[in-house]
Amino acid sequence: MQPKLEWQLYQNYPGLFAGWPTDSCGLEYGLMGCHEGWYTVIETVCYLLSARNGSIRFLQIKEKFGCLRIYFQRSDDYSKGVKQMAELISARTCEICGNPGVLYKSAGWLATRCLSHTSAENLAGYCQQPAIKSIRNMGIGWSGLVTDLTSWVEAYQKYNANCDWKLEYRKSNGRLHVNFLGGDNTLQGAIDCVNSYCSRIDECSGACTIINPGEQ
Ligand SMILES: [Zn+2]
Repeated sequence: MQPKLEWQLYQNYPGLFAGWPTDSCGLEYGLMGCHEGWYTVIETVCYLLSARNGSIRFLQIKEKFGCLRIYFQRSDDYSKGVKQMAELISARTCEICGNPGVLYKSAGWLATRCLSHTSAENLAGYCQQPAIKSIRNMGIGWSGLVTDLTSWVEAYQKYNANCDWKLEYRKSNGRLHVNFLGGDNTLQGAIDCVNSYCSRIDECSGACTIINPGEQ
């Protein structure tokens, strides 16, 4: 990631990066082991966690198996939900530019890229997945993330039988509002992650529209 972007995250959310090595130029270069296309995903995580859990710390942020991986110290149920959804979002976000991308495998390597940042041949077998359907007249950019969220919640409930839930979606004043009845703090973290990230991307194209940290 570009050093200036790493430094922006550090300056805006210093508590989350407590203990990370710095030098006169900022955060030591390359500590975040991913490209800047995931900056907005990481910034969303920072925004949510800094407001919720004052003791949580990042241990590591990197790319692994083509997706974002975030490791915490002093995490809680809420942060687990945020983290898992952020990692899912990265799997449909180009790691290079932040536009919608596809997780693919080529020559044994996994990566998430848009068509501008890999060859059409690389994505050929992966773009034939079922097209994203619009949910409640929402744009495809938002609908893709809501689809991911719904699948994640269904899987989560299978392993948490006591977690009864019902998701509700609505759009108001240009913002996505996903709410739930029932559920727990992990579910709330995942939902907040989608709501917050969707406020940072274009509803239709899914492209990032906000890159300034600290804004929602
Ligand atoms: Zn790209």
